Formats: sequence, C-alpha cells, structure tokens
Amino acid sequence: MSDARSEAPMLSVEDLSVVFRTDKERVHALDGVNFDIREGETVGLVGESGSGKSVTARSILGLINDPGRIESGAIRFRGRDLTDVGWTDARGDIAIVFQDPSGSLNPVYTVGNQIREALKIHRGLTGRAAREEAIRLLESVGIPDAPGRVNAYPNEFSGGMRQRAVIATALACDPDLLVCDEPTTALDVTIQAQILDLLDDLQRESGLSILFITHDMGVVSTVADRVNVMYAGEIVERAPADRLFSDPAHPYTRGLLASIPSVGARGDRLLTIDGEVPTPNEAPTACRFAPRCPKAFEACDHVHPKHVDQGGGQSAACLLFEEEHTTPVTPETGRPGVADTHSAAETDGGTE
Ligand code: ADP
Ligand code: MG
Repeated sequence: MSDARSEAPMLSVEDLSVVFRTDKERVHALDGVNFDIREGETVGLVGESGSGKSVTARSILGLINDPGRIESGAIRFRGRDLTDVGWTDARGDIAIVFQDPSGSLNPVYTVGNQIREALKIHRGLTGRAAREEAIRLLESVGIPDAPGRVNAYPNEFSGGMRQRAVIATALACDPDLLVCDEPTTALDVTIQAQILDLLDDLQRESGLSILFITHDMGVVSTVADRVNVMYAGEIVERAPADRLFSDPAHPYTRGLLASIPSVGARGDRLLTIDGEVPTPNEAPTACRFAPRCPKAFEACDHVHPKHVDQGGGQSAACLLFEEEHTTPVTPETGRPGVADTHSAAETDGGTE
C-alpha cells in the first residue's frame, strides 16, 4: 500500500467497451469502463462473478480474442494507447497472475525451467545467469530452499507455493504493472494472507503498480489504495479504499459490504444481495443494478446513471445522486423537476 506518487497515471482505461459476439447474441461484457492506475499504486477492481473483471484484465494485456472484440475506448499505458499501437512493446512491462496457479504453470516442465524461459524471452538471460536469477526470484517470493526447489515440478509444490512460483514467473519479465486476477481465490485463508503480504512487500521493494481483482470486499480492503466497484460491465463506484469502506455511496457497494461479516458487523445488519449479475445484450439504457436494488425507483428502469462526484476522489453512478431524478414530479409536466443539476456530475463515458 502506498500513496499515489505521480500525477500522470501509468495506465488509464478510457471508455472501454468490449463485446462478445456469438451466433445467438452480442454480450456487452464491458460498457464504457474508466479507471486509472498511478505509479506504485494498488488499485482494486471488485465485483461479483460475471461482472467483467477478467475481461478488463485480459483487455489490458491484449488478450481479448474472437469472439470478443474491443469495440471502443482506449487503454493508455505510459501515454500510448495500446488498442492503437498494439501490445508488443508493452509485453514485458505488464504481467498477469491468474486465479488458478495450476493452470498457469506447465506440469511437464520444472518451475525453474518456466522462470528461465520467461527470463530468456523478456530479459535475454540464459545459462548460469538465468539459473541464478530464477533462484533469486523464487527467494524473493518466499520459497524456502530455492536452490533445491528450482528443479522441482509444479505438482511437487503446494497450492500456495505454486502461486508464489507463478508470481515469480510473472516477475521474471520485470514488469511495471502486475495485474492480479483473483490471485488468492483458490487458496485457503492463511495462504491467501501470505500471498497478500508478499504482494505488498514486492510493491514496497520495487515500486510495482498492481491492479488487484477480486470478488472479495474483505480482501480488497486489505490491499487496495483505491477501489473500483464493477457491476454488469460498468464501474458503478470508485473511491479511495478507506473512504469506500467507511462511506460507501452506491447501493451495490453497500450491499457488497454488508455481505461480508467483518465489515458488515460495523454497520447495521448482515444483508446479502439477492439475484445475479445480468449478462447485458445491449448498451445500457437503464441502471443495470435496478432489478436487485433496494433503493430503486421508477426512473432507474429507463435512465442510465452517470457518475456523480461525491468529493474526496469518490464517485458513484446512481440516480440517487442525480437530483433531477430524485426531486418530486412537477404537476404540469408529470416529469421530475430541476434539470440543472449536471454541473455536479462528472460524466463517466457510458455509450449513450
Ligand atoms: P468476472 O471475471 O467478473 O467473473 P468476466 O470478465 O469473466 O467476469 O465475464 C464478464 C462477462 O463477459 C460474462 O458474464 C460473460 O457473459 C462475458 N464473456 C466473457 N468471456 C466470454 C467469451 N469468451 N464468450 C462470450 N462471453 C464472454
Ligand atoms: Mg474473473
């Protein structure tokens, strides 16, 4: 965890929309997603399963393939839009750690072999230099007896050790940005805490920026400097982490927080949000959370909410904060009054 160190973001995702076309449907996996990551910062991306977190991660790495396509928007890394210039030059600068460590390591090669392969591709290291660096990397991620373990196969490692090895492999390309897509979800709680500590240490030592993706509000609260809350392909709230947890604005964020016992206990009662994340087939014309929202009112079914600045780096896309929709209906027109409230609203893309 760190303070933001420089003003210009290292990465900015701008109005990103990704669509998957299948024979039957067009799935709007991402619709107008905006967020950024500064140097040395850990940014959280949190939301339930199916909300578009992995599609966001894969987009940043340039891994969206048929039938998926980046329809619009930009992914600016150090000022260059990767959707325009391509990912080749950035390949060694951005690395990803996936949820399942077994899927990320090839069972037929030793762990050391796989790290050396990455060292060869990204840093041109071979032979003894590569072997020594592989051992150093394994040590840096806390693998005991690294010189002895470097020749072990992935199945000789425990789950937690395997995820450490995956992180070592990701670090082999000496990235500036590490995208962690649910890196601890497959691990038990104790091991999870160790991996989170490891990422924190690595960041402190190297100034690495991290995009930390999880469905777990408890986890994101321990790792992130700033958090983006994602729902059905959109960012619905963003805030500095402490602010998000002390004063959540969006009803979805409130629901997510209330559903974790440790944080919910501080609030009123323990709730869970009924229902599931929808799979959107078109660009948003309403609030996608409305069908599950305890605060929903009539306008939520036909107006797409924009981000409204809440001060202190927090914003939420919810009509509760767009005054024109919450003021009483005027008798003459039968429509909500007070139209001039958009000055306070920070527009957050969307495709309307
Ligand atoms: P999360 O990681 O938040 O659980 P994903 O980013 O994996 O969610 O997926 C978001 C949505 O994108 C899914 O609900 C799914 O409908 C759609 N999607 C992802 N990958 C594909 C694919 N290969 N083909 C069709 N739809 C996909
Ligand atoms: Mg995912």
